[in-house]
Amino acid sequence: MDLNFIDTHIHIDGEEFDGDRQEVMDRAREAGATALFIPAIDLASSQRILALCDRHPDFLYPMVGLHPEEVHADWQEQLRAIRQLLDANRQKVLAIGEVGLDFYWSREFEQEQLEAFEEQVRWSIETRLPLMIHCRKAQNEMIAILKRYAHQLPGGVFHCFTGNEIEARELLQFSQFVLGIGGVSTFKKSHLPEVLPAVVPLDRLVLETDAPYMAPVPMRGQRNESAYIPHIIALLAKSYGVSEKEIGRQTTENVERVFKAK
Ligand SMILES: [Zn+2]
Repeated sequence: MDLNFIDTHIHIDGEEFDGDRQEVMDRAREAGATALFIPAIDLASSQRILALCDRHPDFLYPMVGLHPEEVHADWQEQLRAIRQLLDANRQKVLAIGEVGLDFYWSREFEQEQLEAFEEQVRWSIETRLPLMIHCRKAQNEMIAILKRYAHQLPGGVFHCFTGNEIEARELLQFSQFVLGIGGVSTFKKSHLPEVLPAVVPLDRLVLETDAPYMAPVPMRGQRNESAYIPHIIALLAKSYGVSEKEIGRQTTENVERVFKAK
């Protein structure tokens, strides 16, 4: 089967893949992956990912950014150094990410998270690089920030979308953005198989693993990897009533539009 797809979000730089990173990439290609996009979480991972992607051109593509859960007391130094790295590698960097807001575990650095996110939103506007956005328990706050820049934003992905119809509609107002759909959609209690075809047109979806996390059924609970994306494709094909190949083709076209790459 000539199924092709892009995994827009895999933390393949993580230590979970230290033992078999090459095999994970090989299995991804065998399953039909044509590219893997790697989000950073802080300065150290941004550096590591740029170096890793240098060794695998035309397959791994780097992002740089400060993840909301990595916003601590030193956030301003982190941002300054990540920005220097971005400017020095402007031609290589695919997107700014992952950035956003996460008030699920803690609001200790709420104000700092808001400022760090807004600053990186401005980077996206200046550089015209898309945003890979992580948002948990903070959709209203995130939307309030994005609305200030709505007409200037080049676009991006609302990663790991798991919301309801109202939340989907709210996010789709940002016309240059798409929703990242991963393993959660295959979980037994997920409403995504109904929510997505009801309100999300096929040209507003991209695929992701968020590996090593969020493995789809039937691998749920195991380490995730890009080779499992066909399970997500199968679910979407069924929900939308189209072929698996068409899900791969359409999501790849969406990626090319949003990332203006490849
Ligand atoms: Zn992630």
